[in-house]
This record gives sequence, C-alpha cells and structure tokens, in this order.
Amino acid sequence: MTTISVAELEAIRDSVRALCAEFPNEYWRETDRSREYPTKFVDAMTKAGFLAALIPEEYGGSGLGLRAACAILEETHKSGCNAGAIHAQMYTMGTVLKHGSATQKQDWLPKIAKGDIRLQAFGVTEPTSGSDTLALQTTAVKKDDHYVINGQKIWTSRAEYSDFMVLLARTTPIDKVAKKGDGLSVFMLDMRDALKAGLTIRPIRTMMNHATTEVFFDNVKLPAANLIGEEGRGFKYILDGMNAERTLIASECLGDAQWFIKKSVDYANDRKVFGRAIGQNQGVQFPIARAYAQYKAAALIVERAAEMFDAGEAMGEEANIGKMLASEASWAAAESCVQVHGGFAFAEEFDIERKFRETRLYQVAPVSTNLILAYIGQNILGLPRSY
Ligand SMILES: Cc1cc2nc3c(=O)[nH]c(=O)nc-3n(C[C@H](O)[C@H](O)[C@H](O)COP(=O)(O)OP(=O)(O)OC[C@H]3O[C@@H](n4cnc5c(N)ncnc54)[C@H](O)[C@@H]3O)c2cc1C
Repeated sequence: MTTISVAELEAIRDSVRALCAEFPNEYWRETDRSREYPTKFVDAMTKAGFLAALIPEEYGGSGLGLRAACAILEETHKSGCNAGAIHAQMYTMGTVLKHGSATQKQDWLPKIAKGDIRLQAFGVTEPTSGSDTLALQTTAVKKDDHYVINGQKIWTSRAEYSDFMVLLARTTPIDKVAKKGDGLSVFMLDMRDALKAGLTIRPIRTMMNHATTEVFFDNVKLPAANLIGEEGRGFKYILDGMNAERTLIASECLGDAQWFIKKSVDYANDRKVFGRAIGQNQGVQFPIARAYAQYKAAALIVERAAEMFDAGEAMGEEANIGKMLASEASWAAAESCVQVHGGFAFAEEFDIERKFRETRLYQVAPVSTNLILAYIGQNILGLPRSY
C-alpha cells in the first residue's frame, strides 16, 4: 500500500506549479493554433519524473501512487496547461506492470520511467465498434514466433509521438469464444518497427490540439514475446487499467474547473457594467457558485477513488462516478466562465475558448457519460441491461 502525506502531496503540487509556470498561456495558444505537439512540455514533465509516478521504484519510477499522479494532473490543468499530450504514459504502462512477465517489466518499465521510450499510444477504439469494445475487428493471428495484425483503430491519440502502442486485438473469433469477454489480447507494439512494414498513421484534426490519429494495420508482424499476459484475456486486462485512467482524467477536469472558476471570479469582481461589479448580480454569481459546489463534490469522490486504488481496494464505482461528476463540473465551470466574460470569452487571448474546447472532450472520452450511467444502472443498481 502506498501512503503519501498531505505535506508530500503539497510539495508535489508546488513543483508541478513551478514547472507549469514555464509554459504560459502564450505557449498553449501557439501550439493550439498550429496543432503542434507540445514537445517541450512533454520533455519537461518526463525529465521531472512526473510521468513515472505510478511506476514502482524498483523499475526506476517514483512509485508514489494514484493520489500523487492525480495531484500532478490536477495541478497541471489548474495552472492552465494541458496534460492531454502526456497522461496516457501514466496509465497505459499499468497493463505491463500488472500483467506483464518479469522480463517484459524489466525490459520496458525502466526505459519508460527514464523517458528513453515513449508509451503514449493506446489502441482500443475502432470506427465500427465505438463504445462496444467487444465488437472490435482488428485481428492478431499467431504464426510461428509472431502475430500478424490486420485492421484499423481510430482516435489513437499521440501515435505519431510514441514509440510503443498498447494494442487490443482479437485473437479468437467472437463466435468461437466460451465467454463474451474472451478472445481479445493485449500487445506491446513497437511502432518504430511497424511503421517500416505495414503500419500507417493518419492524423485527425480535431477541435482542440490533441494529436489524435487513425491507424491502419496491413499484415503488421509483432513478436509473440510482446503478448502481455495470457492470450484471450486482454479485455479483462484493459478493464483493470481503466479505473486508474478514469480517475486521472477526472483529476484533469478538477484542475480545469478550478482554472475556470478562478478566471470567472476575478473577472466578475473586476468588470464594472451599469456602475457596479457584474459579480454583484446573482444571475452572474450563482452559476459560478453552482460550478464551485459541483467541483467540490466531485473532488471528494475522485480523492476517495484514488485512495481506494492506492489501498488495493475495488473502486470501479468511485472511478466511474468521479469521472462523470468531474467532467460535468468542469463543463459547468467552463460554461459559466464563457457567460461571465460575455464577448471577451470568444477572444483567443483570454484562453477561455481554448480551455472550453479542451474540457468538452472529457464527457465523451475516454468513456462517455451514457456508458457510465449504464454501468451505474446495470452493475451497481441491478437494473436491466441495455447491451
Ligand atoms: C480526441 C479523442 C481522443 C481519443 N483518444 C483515444 C485513444 O487514445 N485511444 C482509444 O482507444 N480511444 C480514444 N478515443 C475514443 C473514445 O474513447 C471514444 O470516442 C469514446 O469511448 C466514445 O466512443 P465513440 O466515439 O465510438 O462513440 P459511440 O460508441 O459511437 O457512441 C456515440 C454516442 O452514443 C452513446 N451510446 C452508445 N451506446 C449507447 C448505449 N448502449 N446506451 C446509451 N448511449 C449509448 C454514447 O454515449 C455516445 O454519446 C478518443 C476520442 C477522442 C474524441
């Protein structure tokens, strides 16, 4: 069990804030405008060791646990930066850590912790299957000492800037498996090799700077030694990692919410219209107050989810609810921030329109709100299943 004191967490937050201060709004405005990958920021976060917070010390990480990792991402977003370019490295390695062999862990984790290899790509979603992961169609067929991959992924973020991809593919046809969740396997795909033989990456320009792509596999060969865990159990392995992912993303939303709320309060106190501060009007004040209340409530459950994860307890309910409430709180804060700023919200130089676009993603990815509600309804409350 990882225990970290409040003082240690505060020290981590201080150092994240100091690093983020070197990446002011102008940096994010410019990378957003040109849809450039924020390489300098990624390098700085890697060098500072922040991306290795969840890698145990024996593999060169800091082994600080999920509470610390959440503090890092929350503080990053609260400072106005965006962790979309880096967050995957924190959680995708969890599949290797939890289910990889001793050799795999020894081979990859120290290099990931040091920043010698980048593991930023996570290939699950496909254009035809969407949220229905079990319907994915990319296949991995075993031939002698390797697998041959064919198919397509979509929304594979950061693939152009990653050396490896954690890839989920079907190894047994769906009509030949005993249980619905069987037949999918997880691989560590070395994209540097694959790009020379059968892997194509096509960037997708999106409404925010997220370096997302679609990837195509045309007879891509992958060493059998890169299979993680047992063949056919990949869906379970991926699900295992999703609770950490959801809690980390929720922390980014909490950071965004605080950024928007501070911006709103400062402006509402400062801006005078009809001879008084606009924040004196309850029509302006209450949406900010409501967003703050939503953020505070979400923060409690996200903190609880991280504590439970660090204590090795099952926390699917807390992770999912935390992700949903935090993404809604950041959206409420974003929405009220736009309204408070009136016309100025739309000016690039206020950074609100950029953060507004960025935070909207988290009600859709990495899991959409409806799918969380279905999980609560079906898995927690025992209501009839819709799928
Ligand atoms: C910028 C970006 C980055 C991403 N990065 C990655 C990545 O790195 N790796 C990766 O694997 N994926 C990634 N994704 C994919 C993301 O996880 C999916 O977009 C998300 O899970 C939703 O899937 P979908 O887009 O296919 O929507 P769909 O599954 O097509 O759903 C569309 C809508 O219908 C709703 N819906 C579907 N089924 C039901 C149901 N049974 N009940 C109620 N509502 C339902 C959904 O909630 C959603 O609102 C990314 C997406 C984006 C936009």
